[in-house]
Amino acid sequence: MSTTTSSVLSQRVLNMAESATIKMAQMARELKAQGHDVISLSLGEPDFDTPDHIKEAAKKALDEGYTKYTPVPGLVELRKAIQTKFKRDNKLDFEVTQIVVSNGAKQSIANLSLALLDEGDEVIIFAPFWVSYSEIVKLGGGVPVLISAGIEDDYKVSAQQVADAITPRTKAVLFSSPCNPTGSVYTHEELDAIATEIAKHEDIYIIADEIYEYINFSDRHVSIGSFPQVKDRTITVNGFSKGFAMTGWRLGYMGAPKEVASACAKIQGQFTSGANAFAQKAAAYALEADMGPTDAMREAFLKRRDMVIAGLSAIPGFKVNNPVGAFYSFPDISSFFGKSDGEVTINNSDDFCEYLLNKAYVAVVTGAAFGAPDCFRLSYAASDDTLKEAIQRIADACAKLK
Ligand code: PMP
Ligand code: GLU
Repeated sequence: MSTTTSSVLSQRVLNMAESATIKMAQMARELKAQGHDVISLSLGEPDFDTPDHIKEAAKKALDEGYTKYTPVPGLVELRKAIQTKFKRDNKLDFEVTQIVVSNGAKQSIANLSLALLDEGDEVIIFAPFWVSYSEIVKLGGGVPVLISAGIEDDYKVSAQQVADAITPRTKAVLFSSPCNPTGSVYTHEELDAIATEIAKHEDIYIIADEIYEYINFSDRHVSIGSFPQVKDRTITVNGFSKGFAMTGWRLGYMGAPKEVASACAKIQGQFTSGANAFAQKAAAYALEADMGPTDAMREAFLKRRDMVIAGLSAIPGFKVNNPVGAFYSFPDISSFFGKSDGEVTINNSDDFCEYLLNKAYVAVVTGAAFGAPDCFRLSYAASDDTLKEAIQRIADACAKLK
């Protein structure tokens, strides 16, 4: 009997890939624990601490007794703050009942997968994509349909590609902008064209993951849900992890058509209930308070982007795009495939990342996990000195590959 059929575990979990971002971060931690000087640029997590005024709001909420269950879709106070934020920043009009707060945007997307998909329903995902999208879609019984763009197109798919991928089974289109892992940002015109193609078909939802909204170096962030042709069928997902450096607080949210929001709340009511009470209270405060710390973080990321892109572009064999948002670089390193340092031969992106980890002690994530096997992802959410050292190590290791 094969391991798969004899396992006590479900086919559902056996068919699921482990999160490559989380796996790589764990491998880096283990190597560090063994005493190696590892630089981990694997996990997408701001290196800044949560701003003090948000921490203070959480402490105050604890003292005020926000220690109990909350309504499953979130405290009304937080949902009202999100409603105002959606209007203010995104030109999106949601009623409070259309907003659901969850334990991270990851749970928001998982709720949507379970709420929207029947067995065999297709979800068009723009590749390169965040590692969890395809696995979450599969968990809901759906079929990920990947449409890809390479570095020559700034990793952005065209409206025509979206049109060509739509079939009678298409239930949703899912993407992030600013994009994890490429940092690419879809422009107003590009989003308009994509929205127009989707609007030609009934019953296709758009799931717009805007978690990197505040780490956008272009003039403005555009929400696809603000286009009239798709406003009633766009689900906008966002969260506090990135823009407010609150990854460990576990708070995300969505604005969705009413029936979708209710279905997600129903699922959440059986799985996890409302998110952490005092964290919600602090999050409501964060949305209405001074955005100075968020702006300062964005400025710091922009400086680092320039340094990292200059450093990586100077390494022979690297093809590098210029990310307009998020805090990742996603170089194409396919020119190294087939090369060797005399001990190890690099046949693909997995090999390349393993080589960097073992020989340079720099942890990055293979592009294969993001649907782009010619690339790797480096998170530049780290100090300038750490990044300089990492780039030097990568350059030295790559110079040995002939
Ligand atoms: N979407 C994207 C594109 C992400 O990079 C992440 C990773 N944090 C998430 C969603 C999930 O974020 P969280 O669950 O921390 O809110
Ligand atoms: N989203 C971050 C990343 O892409 C955090 C880890 C994860 O949840 O995947 O690295």
